[in-house]
Amino acid sequence: MTEGPVLEVRDVSMIYPGGVTALAGATLDIAAGELVAIVGPSGSGKSTLLNIIGTLDRPTSGTVRISGHDVAKLSDRQLSALRAREIGFVFQQFHLADGLSATDNVAAGLLYAGVPRRQRRELARQSLARVGLAHRTGHRPQQLSGGEKQRVAIARALVNEPSLVLADEPTGALDTVTGQAVLGLLRRLNEEGTTIVLITHDRDIAASLPRQIEIRDGRLVRDGKPLVNK
Ligand code: ADP
Repeated sequence: MTEGPVLEVRDVSMIYPGGVTALAGATLDIAAGELVAIVGPSGSGKSTLLNIIGTLDRPTSGTVRISGHDVAKLSDRQLSALRAREIGFVFQQFHLADGLSATDNVAAGLLYAGVPRRQRRELARQSLARVGLAHRTGHRPQQLSGGEKQRVAIARALVNEPSLVLADEPTGALDTVTGQAVLGLLRRLNEEGTTIVLITHDRDIAASLPRQIEIRDGRLVRDGKPLVNK
């Protein structure tokens, strides 16, 4: 673990070809152990920010540091290695492989970590147990409910013990009750030490999390850090 923030974003802008300014000078820090919502309406720049934080896209200007590493200074290969080691992704539509069991879907999260196959599957089973799916390890995605699929995806994001989990509308494809259960799981994982950034357009979901960063028209307009109790 590094001493500084897990994530530092400094004055990051993104202008897409064609001239759309999707992000204009975004600056934020995320410390280890935080659970943060980035909230804003459709088109406000959430996905753009998430892709940049997740090192899937490079910004037009500004600096992104993950665990102290300036990602602009890394080659594509070094960046892939950093991403595999430091970041876990959770998507609205789960992005599980249909032909694979829950265990193998989760084990896929370790493919680039240099872990031998047998150990990958053992770690995958442990990660599934952590999200309450010890009884579903052999099931394929089509045999699982939406909430269970998202738990498998969360287990995959966690299996490598990343510094940062990025969740893009993780409850967006779920009914309210199931979505609340998935949020409860993310809260518990955060209490156990996982740093989580969750993107949402839903103000109620954002309001239920300890810190909300609000984005509008590519600008961060509010960053409510919880007050420290003294
Ligand atoms: P959100 O995730 O909050 O809905 P986005 O980050 O997807 O917002 O989009 C922010 C703005 O950037 C929007 O105006 C959108 O149309 C534009 N945009 C997003 N992706 C691209 C792209 N690849 N090329 C051009 N414009 C884009």
